[in-house]
Amino acid sequence: MLSVEEARMRILSTVEPLASERVSLKRAVGRVLAEHVLADSDLPAFDNSSVDGFAVRAEQIAAATSQHPIEMPVSSDIPAGTELAGTLQAGTAARIMTGAPLPGGADSVVMLEDTDFDPRKPGSPSPARVAVFHAAVASENVRSRGADVHAGETVLSPGRRLRAADIGLLAALGRSMIDVHRRPRLAIFSTGDELLRVGAPAERGKIWESNSFSLAALAQEAGAEVLRLGIARDRPAEVEELLGQAVQQRADLILSSAGVSVGAFDFVREVIASRGSLDFWRINMRPGKPLAYGAFDNIPFFGLPGNPVSAFICFLIFVSPVVARLSGAAETPRRLVRARLVEPVHSDGRETYLRAIVDASEDGPVARLTGHQGSADLFALSRANALLIIPSGVKSVPPGEEVTAWLL
Ligand code: AMP
Ligand code: MG
Repeated sequence: MLSVEEARMRILSTVEPLASERVSLKRAVGRVLAEHVLADSDLPAFDNSSVDGFAVRAEQIAAATSQHPIEMPVSSDIPAGTELAGTLQAGTAARIMTGAPLPGGADSVVMLEDTDFDPRKPGSPSPARVAVFHAAVASENVRSRGADVHAGETVLSPGRRLRAADIGLLAALGRSMIDVHRRPRLAIFSTGDELLRVGAPAERGKIWESNSFSLAALAQEAGAEVLRLGIARDRPAEVEELLGQAVQQRADLILSSAGVSVGAFDFVREVIASRGSLDFWRINMRPGKPLAYGAFDNIPFFGLPGNPVSAFICFLIFVSPVVARLSGAAETPRRLVRARLVEPVHSDGRETYLRAIVDASEDGPVARLTGHQGSADLFALSRANALLIIPSGVKSVPPGEEVTAWLL
């Protein structure tokens, strides 16, 4: 039997990041960067005021107090987006707005609230003179050029999944287009004569097909584009038809669910093997049936278990890292915490993934199971916010002990 980790490594060694494409920054959130982003300019690009106030030379107001304000003429006005031509006249102040360049000759800004000038009305003209109530130190209320980013500095590296703050940073640096990896196209279909399409009327002995929905949702969360191919009856021709559609629609990865049990799946094995290869691995994990992994027409293929919880957990463990690798992402790290059990847990010694609820407590995270751990129990999965990972070789863990919880 393969360990979970060995299986993951074998699978990952078969895929490479997809090529890059240039996209507008507006469409780049969640995409994975395929370039080194070097700052072309400093940020801030120039010394500027962080408040609305008066630009001065700090030494001129060193003695200012509320009892003995220092008064000086206001020689100019610097709205944001403009620049003072020349330097600040010695002994004077310039009215300045937030974000406006600090004029040469000034080294600090006194905020409006520390002066006798207080009209908040938009459009108020600059006063002829201003009295300052507080001393300032040099650089007070000044955002210095390059304080955040130095020109030439690498700010973002390949493999980075772009987050909202990254998008803002790229815009602030003037980048409107960016190289990212192409998003993987993931084809998904279900197999089984008992499956009804959601929306069809209920029928005795049949069930509404749910795997393609949970798997598509997981795929979207992982950043893939989903091609939904529907349901194949338990007949080779139907499976072949859907595999053909996946090829035609240029899928980067194909997922099917169900039929992995011995016997029933034989024909799918044949269909896949006719244009590729398929391995069945017995993996030392629970829940788990053999995992089928191979390629069809050179497209990586997963045959996931039919049971909804098993399919879901297999996706998280084996498919998510493949989607991440295809996307060019450094593997998305799992969010793991140690949590104290409030009840005993048992396993058969295989690496076991248990549905659980992890809550904060005064003594740190605590974990309880969501109840019956059946591999078809979607409600118990839906209530879970974590999977507890019980390592192989461990058959039980008593209450009070800590286990690793993978936060979902
Ligand atoms: P199988 O792998 O075909 O033996 O299926 C195992 C179990 O998973 C059976 O109870 C199936 O009815 C169920 N199952 C298979 N495919 C789906 C699906 N797409 N949605 C929900 N349940 C499924
Ligand atoms: Mg079946």
